Amino acid sequence: MFQAFVYRLYPSKSQHARLEAVRETCRHFYNACRRERKEAYEERGETISKTVQLRTVKVEKATSPYALDIHSHILQNVVADLDKAFEAFFRRVKAGENPGYPRFKVRNRFAGFGFKEYGNGFKVDGRRLCLFGIDRIAVRWHRKLAGAIKTARIFCRAGKWFVAFSCAVEKPEPLPKTGASIGIDLGLMRLATFSNGEKKENPRWYRGILQELRVLQRKIARCMPGGRNRRRLILRLQRMMVHVANARKDFLNKFVHELITRFDRIVLEDLRVAVMVPGHFAMSILDAGWSYLVSHLAHKAESAGREVVKVDPAYTSKTCSGCGAIFEHLSLWDRWVECDCGVSLDRDHNAAIVVFQRGRNGPLGAKLANGRVCPEAARL
Ligand SMILES: [Zn+2]
Repeated sequence: MFQAFVYRLYPSKSQHARLEAVRETCRHFYNACRRERKEAYEERGETISKTVQLRTVKVEKATSPYALDIHSHILQNVVADLDKAFEAFFRRVKAGENPGYPRFKVRNRFAGFGFKEYGNGFKVDGRRLCLFGIDRIAVRWHRKLAGAIKTARIFCRAGKWFVAFSCAVEKPEPLPKTGASIGIDLGLMRLATFSNGEKKENPRWYRGILQELRVLQRKIARCMPGGRNRRRLILRLQRMMVHVANARKDFLNKFVHELITRFDRIVLEDLRVAVMVPGHFAMSILDAGWSYLVSHLAHKAESAGREVVKVDPAYTSKTCSGCGAIFEHLSLWDRWVECDCGVSLDRDHNAAIVVFQRGRNGPLGAKLANGRVCPEAARL
């Protein structure tokens, strides 16, 4: 099993310049390889493979003055990255989607570069990270590294440099069973409502900085293109976005941890976020981080020996959790549901219970807490 460990790097001024130079060389090489593939296809109908392009690394190192003191693994990784971009492109074409052609990388669209083998081009030397041709860089070891380091990626985010190690670690022991299970309704007003009535509010990180963002974007628009002020302001904007992304990720990670430690079995709606996002609530859905929450939960559940069940999301909020009747006239703004069978609940709480009922298997799961049979669950 592999686990990633990311640390902040503190390069000196000269090291910073060197990192930038390596990144620029990689970017030019990436664009050159991309052009080679594109022209070969357009002019001769040929497809140039990864193996063929890997051979050009030697030529590049022998002929380009910039590539002289760059480790060959870095350039090989550039070819591999490009190949991945093309593979993803062709896979999506085959699947009948409408993907974008792999991009020409402009200056601020190229994050970084990577090494393939520990001890060959990079190693940890005392408290510093030693990189081939760049020197020993200071690292903030904010957490303990586990396992054996296999590869490293050096990248820049909003003007700050980081290293991501990929480490081979032992599969963790599954958590002790708690005997509890839960159904969860994901929402926008409230991030999550549990079938036991607990609520998790939605902090709406992005919405919180919208005003500040608008002012900053206006300032940037008034700057001279390519000027120093513009670059400075763009960096400030990038830092703001990274800050929001970090806050969101931290919050969701803690939430997932809470779910995993408390419940053996977690039932969710199988939301198709990619289908929903072009709609009216795009910004809110993306800001809430549903996709990340669901994928991260599935990932963590697997290593902890927990079960995540995804159920059909149709009519979860319009179905009565007591008798299975459908509320025909429920609008999006009705926050409370009432049924003739005696159910009177918060709309999301009711939906979470329905989700939970759907997650139970077969007719056995059709029995409700009050002993009656839920027709909704019986049908499934
Ligand atoms: Zn009812």
